[in-house]
Amino acid sequence: MNMTRQFFDTAASIGRGMWVTIVNFFRPTITQHYPEERRVTVRGERSLPVLLSRPGTEILNCTACELCARACPVECITIGWDKVDRKTARPEEVGNNTNTGRALRLYNLDASLCLYCGLCAEACPYEALAMSDVYELAEAAAGEPVPVELDKERFDGGFPGRTAGDERFVYTKERLAALGRHPAAVITGTRFNPYLSLQRDAVWEEREEPHNIFPPRPDLQYQAPDNAPAE
Ligand code: SF4
Ligand code: SF4
Repeated sequence: MNMTRQFFDTAASIGRGMWVTIVNFFRPTITQHYPEERRVTVRGERSLPVLLSRPGTEILNCTACELCARACPVECITIGWDKVDRKTARPEEVGNNTNTGRALRLYNLDASLCLYCGLCAEACPYEALAMSDVYELAEAAAGEPVPVELDKERFDGGFPGRTAGDERFVYTKERLAALGRHPAAVITGTRFNPYLSLQRDAVWEEREEPHNIFPPRPDLQYQAPDNAPAE
């Protein structure tokens, strides 16, 4: 009796497994050939934080107040600034909001550590930082040098726990600002400022094809390391 029952249980298990296989066999494939193909992001997606500028200018809203860096649970934001006279410093010359008397010198974000939690954007009192739908972590191709100025006083030459070569995951101030100004980057509102995303709704409505924020770069194709086994 037990043998008979075991036989039918096994047959039923195999049948269920085969049914799942057959159903999936006839479904359209969803595998994408990244980076030639990129997935379409959903409205409200929360990926890489980006720096926002005054509309139509390259003047960053950021005042270098460092609240975002303090709010970050993994300390992946590093900020450097120089003291300026906030009464006389002109944002047009400094390149950022000078309300705090600080000229933003560096703003580094280690995308390999970022949790996409959005706490930094919520902590920002100047609407200078927002979450975007940019989800690509690598800032440069493997082996390509990235000119990243690290805050040596704070991190003794590197991000905590990071090793040489990880700099290619570090997004610089210039890169984050360029992404924040990019018309294809969809900015996601935060809990405290849900309407931020409405500014970019027009971008979303126009988007029909999977967007490609980054122009095609042949040098970003995968390169096998030297010690990869020969095919
Ligand atoms: S999204 Fe979260 S983990 Fe990423 S930088 Fe902001 S606070 Fe840090
Ligand atoms: S992004 Fe916002 S919170 Fe961070 S330093 Fe700039 S102004 Fe301050």
